[in-house]
Amino acid sequence: MKSLFYSRFFILLPWVLIVIIMIDVDTKRSSVRDTAHFYLSRLGSAPRRARTAPAGRNRTAPPVVYAVTPTYSRAVQKAELTRLANTFRQVPHFHWIVVEDAGGRTELVSRFLARCGLAHTHLHVLTPRRFKRTGMPRATEQRNAALGWIRQHRSPRDRGVVFFADDDNTYSLELFEEMRSTQRVAVWPVGLVGGRRYERPLVEKGKVVGWYTGWRADRPFAIDMAGFAVNLQVILSNPRAVFKRRGAKPGMQESDFLKQITKVEDLEPKAHNCTRVLVWHTRTEKVNLGNEPKRHQDSVHIEV
Ligand code: UDP
Ligand code: MN
Repeated sequence: MKSLFYSRFFILLPWVLIVIIMIDVDTKRSSVRDTAHFYLSRLGSAPRRARTAPAGRNRTAPPVVYAVTPTYSRAVQKAELTRLANTFRQVPHFHWIVVEDAGGRTELVSRFLARCGLAHTHLHVLTPRRFKRTGMPRATEQRNAALGWIRQHRSPRDRGVVFFADDDNTYSLELFEEMRSTQRVAVWPVGLVGGRRYERPLVEKGKVVGWYTGWRADRPFAIDMAGFAVNLQVILSNPRAVFKRRGAKPGMQESDFLKQITKVEDLEPKAHNCTRVLVWHTRTEKVNLGNEPKRHQDSVHIEV
């Protein structure tokens, strides 16, 4: 009897092992397939996932991060947007508001956004020529267009955080998790800005008490655009707060805007009491197209 049991057991054992191995291999394969499907679907070769992020109405879902990116046509534009999208795609509950400095939505940006796999809104407004001079603040109209869209399309029921994400900066993923808990206005250090390695709000006992900055520390809020985020409800409850052209001096955009919605003592310091750099004010070198031949152009048109 015992020997019969053992012989059956040893005959069955290899088969059981084979079945277990096959099940294991198959789950691994399907998880690889899922990952591939995830990315391919974002590239448009498979059915698309819903594009619009939950508007943050669900009380249990985390607040949506709305990143406002002004952008303008130039040789490196698509490269910049690609870098940004590769970062933003990894941020959950995210909505990208891209505002072109252009008379209309360009083909390049429209095509790019359609394939970027991110919940997004595509706006445009052209900066008047008289404001396109060195020393003049940039992207004022574009950021205001985004604020206008938010005020029109979001309500007191929505939970979110608004952040101004220029197209050439570098963003760590941690930054988005830090800003997500912004109750009113949150601040943190910015790397490679103001002629220094970094600038940062000075914090004492959990409160902002001053600014470590490269220049004009006397500004009420001596902070770069990449150094703060605003709760969506603060944007909605201050409907007249905008970025100003009139009377605005270069480098005062941030301070002039923040003055309208908060006080220094109410700022919420993030990134370990403003001791960690999670965003860098990088700038892309002007590209050299000196060898672009005037005559011998390629026979096909290729978007760059
Ligand atoms: N920008 C724009 N129109 C312009 C110049 C700049 O929309 O004529 C955008 C640009 O794409 C970026 C932001 O405004 O997202 C800030 O511009 P830039 O990075 O040149 O400014 P800086 O780094 O000198 O602050
Ligand atoms: Mn920049």
